[in-house]
Amino acid sequence: MFNINKQLKKAGVHIEPESKVLDVVCGMELDPAHAKLHIEHQGGVYYFCSTMCKNHFVSDPEKYVG
Ligand SMILES: [Zn+2]
Repeated sequence: MFNINKQLKKAGVHIEPESKVLDVVCGMELDPAHAKLHIEHQGGVYYFCSTMCKNHFVSDPEKYVG
């Protein structure tokens, strides 16, 4: 028997426990455990302090992601 078991491990996780995340729209530091507003964009997770900031990001994400 010839069995090849490929396991690709990706460590591309953006969630870091006990660290602050940045609201990229207004620059506010947020606690990810309490930030209710977040979206996934191109494999990353972005948090927002308010619906307004989230809407800004959604309408023009490249402006904030770079
Ligand atoms: Zn904000």
